[in-house]
Amino acid sequence: MQKLYKIMLSVLLIGVFSASLDAQALSKERINKVLKEAYDKYKGDMGGANADYIKALAIVNPNIFGITLVDTKGNIYEYGDTKEQVSIQSISKVFTAALVMSERGVKFVQKRIGVNATGAAFNSIIAIEQHGGSALNPFVNAGAIQSTSWVKAQNSDARWAKIKANMSAYAGSKLQLNEDVYISEVNDNKRNQAISKLLDAYGRMGSDPLEATTVYTKQCSLNVSAHDLAVMASTLANHGQNPVTKEHIISYKYTPKIMAIMATAGLYDNAGDWLYDTGAPAKSGVGGGILAVIPGKFGIGIVSPPLDKYGNSVRAQLAAKYIIKNLHLNPLAQ
Ligand code: GLU
Repeated sequence: MQKLYKIMLSVLLIGVFSASLDAQALSKERINKVLKEAYDKYKGDMGGANADYIKALAIVNPNIFGITLVDTKGNIYEYGDTKEQVSIQSISKVFTAALVMSERGVKFVQKRIGVNATGAAFNSIIAIEQHGGSALNPFVNAGAIQSTSWVKAQNSDARWAKIKANMSAYAGSKLQLNEDVYISEVNDNKRNQAISKLLDAYGRMGSDPLEATTVYTKQCSLNVSAHDLAVMASTLANHGQNPVTKEHIISYKYTPKIMAIMATAGLYDNAGDWLYDTGAPAKSGVGGGILAVIPGKFGIGIVSPPLDKYGNSVRAQLAAKYIIKNLHLNPLAQ
């Protein structure tokens, strides 16, 4: 009897202890402390280089470094240059794919575009050929241009307006076009045009391929800050409801599907290593932003322009990994 009593007492104590650890892990002070630590630890890391294949990206201030966390109640934690803006680039692909999914269904995205890793560069043409005209997933350029083409709209102006409004709703603010980046990229996007034409030859495009490429280029040129990215991520974490504006942007039926693609193909050819280290669905862009989702808990947005050889922001990855580890946020370890 006494033995049973001791066992019950220890179980109770372990429960109380782990609950207090959890509460401590998620207190505001703890979150702010870990954010500051991440910022201080990596601020001086000068690794990587700005993307320069889009000329306007090469001249963005490489010192920008901002970190924001937004929880699913809408509380905001931030440190550093969290209002500095960079072009969203590839991160836009998440939200346009989500729009297509909500308009046309999960099967459409799976069958028409694909949800598998490519094992090839994000702008690969040979990957399309090798897979019988399939883009493989909506986060490589081919799949993203395809997504853009399938957004329901009367014409390309209406399609652009819808895509911009959709991303702005996720961010809870009116996102603006970065004209310099757009002009620089639209005059130099022959490869993306070729990709769209090839997909069109395979009968995979929903609207005119060159018009879709232009709209895609615009969506990549929208400006976002770390703050915007974190709010966008927190909307996915919060089952499709923006926790700051309280607007319902997308059905909870679709957010697990979008996050699954982020887990598979969010960080280019380094997506496996990222998932192994963090367990978190995420997406990066060559503008230097990364957003990561901790389902049911947090959205993380980080901006720092210098990229590694895979095209992922060096400091944003380091800071996100530090935060996820030190706040015990790995979704696969819950
Ligand atoms: N607009 C860029 C492109 O089409 C996006 C690339 C990226 O961020 O991966 O090349």
